[in-house]
Amino acid sequence: MAKRKDEGLGCLLLILIGGIIYLWSQNTIWGIVALIIGLVLFFVAAIVVAIPKTCDICNAALKRASYSWKLDGKNQRVCPNCNRSLERQTSRAALKKKELI
Ligand SMILES: [Zn+2]
Repeated sequence: MAKRKDEGLGCLLLILIGGIIYLWSQNTIWGIVALIIGLVLFFVAAIVVAIPKTCDICNAALKRASYSWKLDGKNQRVCPNCNRSLERQTSRAALKKKELI
């Protein structure tokens, strides 16, 4: 349910490096083109990740980890603190549901 955001960037980097090495082994020119495109994409992604964001619930600045939750049909970015509270709420709700059955 909650997903860490910073794992996506590492995954993207691995795919990019793999793709560049593959293209480089096939054709050096395509490898260089792919390297340039990869670097641009990576910088854009790094800039997007580096832009300071705030928690959608408590408005605290998100430093390292942020979690996304679907609340009221909207994707919300929350801080680790709010993530913990949300997880507690979800588990309490799940437990309540179990007791009713
Ligand atoms: Zn928060």
